[in-house]
Amino acid sequence: MRVIVLGAGVVGVSAAYALARRGAEVLVVDRREAPAMETSFANGGQISACHVTPWATPNTPHQLAKWFGHADAPLYLPFWKPDVDLWRWGLLFLSNTSATKSCRNLERALRVALHSRGVIKRWREELGLAYDHLERGILNFYRDPREFDAAIRANAAMNAHGLDRAAKTPDECVALEPALATVHPRLVGGIYSPSDESGDAFLFTQALAKKAEELGAVFRFDTPVAALEADNATLSAVRLENGERLTCDAAVVALGSFSGKLTRGVGFGLPIYPAKGYSITVSTAGHDGAPTVSLIDDENKMVFSRFGERLRAAGTAELNGWSDAIDQRRADVILNKTRALFPDASDYAEPNFWAGLRPSTPDSAPILGKTPVKGLWLDTGHGTLGWTMAAGSGDVIADAVLGLPTAIDMDGLGMDRFGR
Ligand SMILES: Cc1cc2nc3c(=O)[nH]c(=O)nc-3n(C[C@H](O)[C@H](O)[C@H](O)COP(=O)(O)OP(=O)(O)OC[C@H]3O[C@@H](n4cnc5c(N)ncnc54)[C@H](O)[C@@H]3O)c2cc1C
Repeated sequence: MRVIVLGAGVVGVSAAYALARRGAEVLVVDRREAPAMETSFANGGQISACHVTPWATPNTPHQLAKWFGHADAPLYLPFWKPDVDLWRWGLLFLSNTSATKSCRNLERALRVALHSRGVIKRWREELGLAYDHLERGILNFYRDPREFDAAIRANAAMNAHGLDRAAKTPDECVALEPALATVHPRLVGGIYSPSDESGDAFLFTQALAKKAEELGAVFRFDTPVAALEADNATLSAVRLENGERLTCDAAVVALGSFSGKLTRGVGFGLPIYPAKGYSITVSTAGHDGAPTVSLIDDENKMVFSRFGERLRAAGTAELNGWSDAIDQRRADVILNKTRALFPDASDYAEPNFWAGLRPSTPDSAPILGKTPVKGLWLDTGHGTLGWTMAAGSGDVIADAVLGLPTAIDMDGLGMDRFGR
């Protein structure tokens, strides 16, 4: 079976590898010069199955009110902007904040994330992939008692799903990660998940692409896709910007935030809106104050991961269209908060600033499975957790495309959940 994978981010490359491993003839097409040059390039690095909380929860309206009007708030939402896509997405988002829907959405995302954690481990061991990964768990630390109480309540639901998340006192947080000593007096507690991991998604994607190539997959870079073509609700071709028409038995859309722009041409859009986030990466060489446990700073909605002699800090969400241009004021917020928290982690002399577009769905679950166009499949919308979910998504979409039984139940993961 000849399958074209559209997009060579961590999601597309994972699908390509899984398909090639099952014997499919795979072609991957991407507009960039190499794998993982867009959102998978410099993300927060967390493989955080135990922190798969949807963005839309009953607590969200309280948080939005708290951040409203603050220039350094983790969320930037230009409510005055006449952006139909944003407001349509926003209404769907608000319709997902009830406790019942939030629980349902949690279960769906968790199903993919837990499967993914197993798949990534298997691939790492079988293929010897090196991507600066650490298995020291993830510690979510809190300064606000109200947020910590909400997290403790959520913990019960998470534990019911079999997740190993344990509440920690401030002293226990600092014992786990001594680099948190600077914030110790303000800590009210933490939630620690020892089975979560971290690693560099860019290195992983590049290494996995090589393994896919060894299995016969072909990658075409610097190759923008212009459109999809369908006849009688069946995919007939993938048209490139250079006019070439590629034919195949099946195509998998893994174009991150740009997925819906192409599917519109064959009759359906997708409820995916880009949530721009920023990261900085600094060298820790010669310094010993950087954390090695991957961290989530709940108050600032920032994450920290250690990759060898580098520290990555990431955060903020800007719902402001499809540009990944860096707003230096917002990037500096990440830098300044990191320096304040870990003054001895680096000299912070030459931070690498980066911005990427999280392909976010209103319910924080990815969109996986078939479409109304026969032969066209979706593996997209992974939002804030694409690194966490990519391997598992690739594994199940490969089985679905090839007509094999999938390792997890696909119910509720497809685009039909949005009434399309
Ligand atoms: C600041 C930040 C921090 C994050 N932290 C984490 C984290 O800690 N843990 C986690 O799990 N996730 C995290 N994420 C989310 C994660 O990075 C994304 O969900 C993931 O990278 C999405 O992967 P993707 O392959 O779907 O998209 P991408 O990596 O964007 O890949 C899509 C590909 O499609 C290509 N493309 C698009 N349009 C076209 C076209 N017309 N023709 C050809 N090619 C095209 C692009 O070039 C790109 O290579 C974070 C994201 C951000 C922004």
